[in-house]
Amino acid sequence: MENIKSFTLKELKELVENLNWPEYSAYQIFQWLWQKKVNDFSLMSNLSKLKREYLKNNYIITELKIIGNKKAKDGTEKFLFELYDNNKVETVFIPEEKRKTVCVSSQIGCPLKCLFCNSGKISFKRNLYFYEICDQILMIEKKLNIKPTNIVFMGIGEPLLNLEEVLKAIQVITSPIGFGISARKITISTAGIVEGIYRLAEIKKKVKLAISLNATKDEIREYLMPINKKYPISEILKACEYYWQKKRERITFEYVLIRDINDSEEDAYSLSRILKKIPCKINLIPFNSFPSISFQPPSLKRIEKFMKILVEANYTVTLRKSHGQEILAGCGQLAYQNY
Ligand code: SAH
Repeated sequence: MENIKSFTLKELKELVENLNWPEYSAYQIFQWLWQKKVNDFSLMSNLSKLKREYLKNNYIITELKIIGNKKAKDGTEKFLFELYDNNKVETVFIPEEKRKTVCVSSQIGCPLKCLFCNSGKISFKRNLYFYEICDQILMIEKKLNIKPTNIVFMGIGEPLLNLEEVLKAIQVITSPIGFGISARKITISTAGIVEGIYRLAEIKKKVKLAISLNATKDEIREYLMPINKKYPISEILKACEYYWQKKRERITFEYVLIRDINDSEEDAYSLSRILKKIPCKINLIPFNSFPSISFQPPSLKRIEKFMKILVEANYTVTLRKSHGQEILAGCGQLAYQNY
């Protein structure tokens, strides 16, 4: 039987139309699934008994199965879920003073194989469906009994290689009868899939865009991120300029600082030069380590120097405090391990 969660609101409307039910039934079903988070048709009390029976006989409601979860000292908690096809999904919940962030995965494994990222070490299986992305948030809400304030597409996978489903997920996340989180509180982070950036420039929703830049010269970026062969730095920056022209939304550039690879003063000056034309923020992320890699984060002194150069060039610079490193829940550490 088909999973009713696999229907977008538009598809639910078509479904009820074909059954000669009123259109509002579609809104009711959607609300029960995504806002009220029920997993049983018989609980959908504002639908007639007959309708509930019909749904029950023709559809199922699936949920993710929690097969692992681990909590770090700082409260960060990571979850390992199993899907109906036995694939696994990993999601992180990051509680801070004002923010409660859910970091979702968009793919099973990652095809990009960035050298510094643990998620590239596991084989890529498939894209996640929108409802599998939404279910990550739903399960965390239910399990921890919290309302997330922010959603970041920074878990396993490259969201812009799964843009259709990511956009459908965003519909549910932002819907007042879904998760009700405003688009401004959603960040899509990409390794720089140029077509995806152009597409995002055309959508109305004000989701935030973050680009994992990580180097300022193609040679180094290619070494760190093989996808750079297909989308070199100049092409990415051109797409970012277009994005700014179209949306007037500041982009965030993420830069993972790796000792002796991309952390020199020269790198900082070069970064400040290449981003000049793009109103942006820079988010520095000291490299998070994981087994099987020899990279190191720079010393604090070197990080501060890098930051100072950018601040003096008038950039808004933030240093990302990664969360839950000791349980491998920090940026770039997820690989279905350590439960
Ligand atoms: N594929 C997307 C989203 C996942 S990665 C992307 O590349 O943006 C989310 C962020 O974590 C990226 O900015 C990435 O550069 C960063 N990251 C990856 N591995 C890391 C590591 N080992 N330490 C610190 N940050 C890392």
